[in-house]
Amino acid sequence: SQPVSPPSPAQALQRCGGQVATSSQRAQRGTAAAAATRHVPSWTGQESLAKSDPEMWTLVQKEKDRQCRGLELIASENFCSRAALEALGSCLNNKYSEGYPGKRYYGGAEVVDQIELLCEQRALEAFDLDPACWGVNVQPYSGSPANFAAYTALLQPHDRLMGLDLPDGGHLTHGYMSDVKRISATSIFFESMPYKLDPATGLIDYDQLEVTARLFRPRLIIAGTSAYARLIDYARMKKVCEEVKAYLLADMAHISGLVAAKVIPSPFEHADLVTSTTHKTLRGARSGLIFYRKGVRSVEKKTGKETLYDLEDRINFAVFPSLQGGPHNHAIAAVAVALKQASSPAFRQYCQQVLKNAKAMAQALLQRGYTLVSGGTDNHLVLVDLRPKGIDGARAERVLELVSITANKNTCPGDKSALTPGGLRLGAPALTSRHFCEEDFQKVVAFIDEGIALALDVKSKTSKLQEFKTFLLQDAETQQRLADLRQRVETFARAFPMPGFSDR
Ligand SMILES: *Cc1c(COP(=O)(O)O)cnc(C)c1O
Repeated sequence: SQPVSPPSPAQALQRCGGQVATSSQRAQRGTAAAAATRHVPSWTGQESLAKSDPEMWTLVQKEKDRQCRGLELIASENFCSRAALEALGSCLNNKYSEGYPGKRYYGGAEVVDQIELLCEQRALEAFDLDPACWGVNVQPYSGSPANFAAYTALLQPHDRLMGLDLPDGGHLTHGYMSDVKRISATSIFFESMPYKLDPATGLIDYDQLEVTARLFRPRLIIAGTSAYARLIDYARMKKVCEEVKAYLLADMAHISGLVAAKVIPSPFEHADLVTSTTHKTLRGARSGLIFYRKGVRSVEKKTGKETLYDLEDRINFAVFPSLQGGPHNHAIAAVAVALKQASSPAFRQYCQQVLKNAKAMAQALLQRGYTLVSGGTDNHLVLVDLRPKGIDGARAERVLELVSITANKNTCPGDKSALTPGGLRLGAPALTSRHFCEEDFQKVVAFIDEGIALALDVKSKTSKLQEFKTFLLQDAETQQRLADLRQRVETFARAFPMPGFSDR
């Protein structure tokens, strides 16, 4: 027998009556009610964004166009796949499911339970982790909440932690305060002590870190960076942690894709916990992950007595109920999709190309006389020290923005000002997702070099940053030069493919 086809969602909604009642139904209910409802348009929730909200649709179109015609070099950004974005923009947005799979505070969670468990399983698989030794919480809303949840799990208020200083390439969430103000919540609720780069080499000063840790006695040391072009010596940091009995937390937010692809060393060998974002090199939806160790933490030498890790319950309790409410099931599903991709040979190839492209970019910059912090790169980014060229990151960033090249100013070791720092951070992950190869990055560097030359000319004709910026927009000859360069950049960029939906 023919199955009866279910009603379309619109039909189903109409059967609820109310706003979409027919005129004869309205007539039956009396003229007053009819007058009140006659001109209220029915809400089906099925109109496209373009129809329902043209103002917002236009803005999305504008942003899509900006992404397609520009050269995206922000090292933390990437272009998420259409498959993951489909999961992100799905009905999973609607479901409340506070708690964890099998232990929810809401009904109707049987499907999202499966989604969360699948995401956990794929997260462990993507990083080659044995479920007997590692667990993962996939609910953090992003990288910053993941870090704060990890601290909440491990530390008492005002316990001590150490992270790489923000101006040296660390992250705000690793602790940041000025002389007069505690900036990061990490420094408001805990006591943070930075470690630094060796200004001579641009590398993390592990000796200084060790000395400081012996004095400061932190309960937690964070190994992770946002603007560092070299690999982290996790073994060295673990040694310090063991000596002062601190946890080692690796925050692999920037590099998690490269770790999954096994093109750089993994922090899992040495760390007690690993946090990550999922939208940077991992190329998924914006979200966060916390991996924690399970099993034996230490064995007493004399007695052979084993101490077990107790991180699983503490991490899970910190994420929910301590810090978050309902998990973002749509994001969790999209992360699961990205993690499946990250376990594929194609993703490994992508990450190998990211490294090649970053090296090609570094080489091309060096050939054109630029100075790189640490002299080169081992990962997905380069940090250019523009000070020897006689320009700063703020002016360079602005000129590049006006010619559709997106990058960000960054402090270099020894910088005095965070508003006009000497550095420019350039990352390869996003453009590599558009299938840029080494030759393409040489071309990108040629465009950047033209932009910097323009910035130097304008700087010689102006004084303060504000005057520089105004001059860029008002001087006719400069406008002409910017337009010409921008035109060539955009023609070049548009020719490359773009992941995601074609129209949004
Ligand atoms: C990006 C980043 C974060 C924070 O991620 P958000 O998703 O922006 O909150 C945390 N740690 C490091 C090292 C990062 O680079």
